[in-house]
Amino acid sequence: MAVGFELVIRGPRVVTAGGEAPASVGVRDGRVGAVAPLAAGLAGDRTVTLADDEVLLPGLVDTHVHVNEPGRTDWEGFDSATRAAAAGGVTTMVDMPLNSVPPTTDVAALEAKRKAAEGRVHVDVGFWGGAVPGNLGDLAGLHEAGVAGFKCFLLPSGVEEFPPLDAGGLDRCLEALAGLGALLVVHAEDDATVAAAPPPAGPSYARFLASRPPEAEHRAVARVVEAARRTGARVHVLHLSSAGALPLLAQARRDGVRVSAETCPHYLTFDAASVPDGATQFKCCPPIRDAANRDRLWQGLADGLIDLVASDHSPCPPGLKRFDSGDFGAAWGGIASLQLSLSAVWTAARSRGHGLADVVRWMAERPAALAGLAGKGRITPGADADFAVFAPDERFLVDPERLRMRHPVTPYAGLRLAGVVRSTWLRGREVDGSEPRGTLLTRGAARRGSGNPRGVPR
Ligand SMILES: [Zn+2]
Repeated sequence: MAVGFELVIRGPRVVTAGGEAPASVGVRDGRVGAVAPLAAGLAGDRTVTLADDEVLLPGLVDTHVHVNEPGRTDWEGFDSATRAAAAGGVTTMVDMPLNSVPPTTDVAALEAKRKAAEGRVHVDVGFWGGAVPGNLGDLAGLHEAGVAGFKCFLLPSGVEEFPPLDAGGLDRCLEALAGLGALLVVHAEDDATVAAAPPPAGPSYARFLASRPPEAEHRAVARVVEAARRTGARVHVLHLSSAGALPLLAQARRDGVRVSAETCPHYLTFDAASVPDGATQFKCCPPIRDAANRDRLWQGLADGLIDLVASDHSPCPPGLKRFDSGDFGAAWGGIASLQLSLSAVWTAARSRGHGLADVVRWMAERPAALAGLAGKGRITPGADADFAVFAPDERFLVDPERLRMRHPVTPYAGLRLAGVVRSTWLRGREVDGSEPRGTLLTRGAARRGSGNPRGVPR
């Protein structure tokens, strides 16, 4: 007796852990119940047949998003951010602990954030906790409450309520997290190196670039690696911009240090020479570097030294970008790209000979593994039925007015990208923006799905 599915999606190209093939995917109770050849004839209450130019991907998982609510909801909020995510094929995002007020550095703040998000999210949302001076005693409680792990800075973060850890603080934090089995994700730029560099001022991008030298990243990554080596804790390097840190990561891994790394779509798309002076929509820290560096980041991804790609979506009101003066010293640093990440990465990836299965590994499977969400990021029996229907060959011009995030400011404006997200599905239902059906995730709660996720936890 055949067991019926509530939904069957039939597609000429379905990307699963086994690669890309024609398949039908049966959905039951919001999860993938079966992945079968088209000829198997899976029957469902509803059958969706994809067009010849469409590919079924697992919904993407973006582990680096600054939602900023509560407290700076005029910068971005759960409603707008999750609409942008859904429009970009992202079905799970993990919110960073800073820029919201309060920052997520104790359980009460996590509860405030969950309260702000509850009933307002169009995709699933998890949370990072924050590690700051003085909150060692709060880490265990946050871990118990289900945060994905903890974020820290090693230099000023840009907001005074989220100060950086010093060297001793980093060690104590990692000792505590090693005991909990929790992950530390690190903004790795070295304070002293940046402080000694010429300060950014005015509209010159070259001057801004000189203010955040690659050595700042290298020294910070080295420090984090050494601290992880001493404590046995698991660490993750956020938004790696300088490929010069890759040999350090390679050596650390050969030594068995538990370290992973991510880079961002903007480092893989843009290069310093193409950033116009005064164009502060390109300002982010660490900065976008030269084209040769970008090539080496791509090589790092291809080699597996960089595990994954996350957006570091960090918007602000247009006024804070100081477009009047174009002053890179005064402008807020952060690039908003949640909705465009897939298309941006795919556009560059395919020109470099990578396939959609690679993009899925970098932007769905490994981020899910990083955040401890084993039921996400893969099309496999038992996993959540989260999908993006993607037309990889359709091209579009980025029109900021069509972005769903709160403010239409993005360095991708006017770019022609390949790959259009035609629809996004969360637990077997198409996300149409009418009713917020996303849920708030806790680490490990979605631990299901057959087979082990590949990659990341080390
Ligand atoms: Zn960030």
